[in-house]
Amino acid sequence: MKPDGVARGLIGEIIGRLEDKQLCIVAAELRTIERATAERHYVEHQGQPYYEKLVEFITQGPSLVLVVEGSEDTWQVVRGLMGATNSKEAAPGTIRGDLAIGMRENLVHGSDSAASAQREIEIFFPHLV
Ligand code: ADP
Ligand code: MG
Repeated sequence: MKPDGVARGLIGEIIGRLEDKQLCIVAAELRTIERATAERHYVEHQGQPYYEKLVEFITQGPSLVLVVEGSEDTWQVVRGLMGATNSKEAAPGTIRGDLAIGMRENLVHGSDSAASAQREIEIFFPHLV
């Protein structure tokens, strides 16, 4: 959960949606992400016109960093619950579709493949891997 979600008091709402779907929280930390960590996490976006502001946003205050599990393809289930990147276009019923309106400030991050889940878990919870 990105800093906008934590700041807006949506921790309960968003975790509730994961739990309602029968996903389990297996690790959680409220943490202000440091610049170096954000740069590592968003390495594939380096050079994009939105990159600098994205890193600024993600480091501006506490995020709630989570690892969830519950199915073979949990990353895909989570992506479905999140909705499209552009909250304005995200379907009603999704986290972004119901609760956000921004492109950058879209409340949640979710790994986009099993490989990126593995890479991202290593960044935030190295002891889990
Ligand atoms: P997602 O978070 O849905 O996987 P991306 O990986 O494409 O989306 O982008 C990572 C994050 O960068 C987005 O969630 C959003 O916060 C930000 N972002 C992406 N594209 C833009 C853009 N065109 N303008 C502003 N911010 C963007
Ligand atoms: Mg992405």
